[in-house]
Amino acid sequence: MSAEGKHVVITGGGSGVGAELAAQFANAGADVTILGRRIEPLNEVAAQIGALALAADVTKRASLDEALDKARAQNGPIAIAIANAGAAPSAPFSAVTPDAFSASLSVNLEGVFHLWQACVEDMNTLGWGRMIAVASTAGLKGYPYVAPYCAAKHGVIGLTRALAQELGRTGITVNAICPGFIETPLLERSIDEIMQKTGLSDADARKSLIRANPQKRFIQTNEVAGSALWLCSDSAASVSGHALSLSGGEI
Ligand code: NAP
Repeated sequence: MSAEGKHVVITGGGSGVGAELAAQFANAGADVTILGRRIEPLNEVAAQIGALALAADVTKRASLDEALDKARAQNGPIAIAIANAGAAPSAPFSAVTPDAFSASLSVNLEGVFHLWQACVEDMNTLGWGRMIAVASTAGLKGYPYVAPYCAAKHGVIGLTRALAQELGRTGITVNAICPGFIETPLLERSIDEIMQKTGLSDADARKSLIRANPQKRFIQTNEVAGSALWLCSDSAASVSGHALSLSGGEI
């Protein structure tokens, strides 16, 4: 078994990690559906790789359900659900509003819950499934100025571990990939915020983020996609409830 011929749904597929996941799964012969709020970047990615692009907000269950029904109508039952959509605005803890805290949990944690729960019956019917979250090293350790993001990503690891226990006999595995800082539009926004808030130069802002990685480099999107493909392979059939750190030894 592998991703070939399987229907994979990838949230946040219009940019960064999600776009690379979509490209690599399409290349591996999967039927790819990508979701996100903005249809234009999704359409661009879809046109390049032959995927189905659908607008959906992972924080709104009705919006997600509607898109998944359309996806099933074209590509069949969902075998692989990759919860990749996320956002990481930064602020000192004392400046985090209750709404900002809730918004972070909503996209980074509840979005994972919504996608996986909406797909579990498909996978049960198939007798095979892969639930994968693109979490973060922020799910395994703390970082300053992103408390809501760290709380949400830690929650994703808990959800992953709990579901692996509950779904153990179903043929479904549940795993979280935990990269350090990856070169994507999200990272560029974080670097802009650091420059604005601290006065650091672009180069020094980048150095401040690389410092904790023993390899002194950013993670690349293809490393995340390669890990996700491996989790869909036969050789990873016993890997479940795992939080896979891609951080050069940071954690
Ligand atoms: P990105 O390019 O900003 O991608 C995030 C994607 O999520 C966008 O395509 C965005 O599309 C989508 N999205 C955001 N909110 C959404 C919502 N409510 N509903 C549906 N889609 C939504 O950033 P990225 O770095 O590739 O991030 C992908 C994942 O990797 C995230 O979970 C992030 O936490 C994780 N991660 C990133 C890094 C890093 O350093 N970049 C490190 C570790 C983990 P729309 O705006 O069109 O909705």
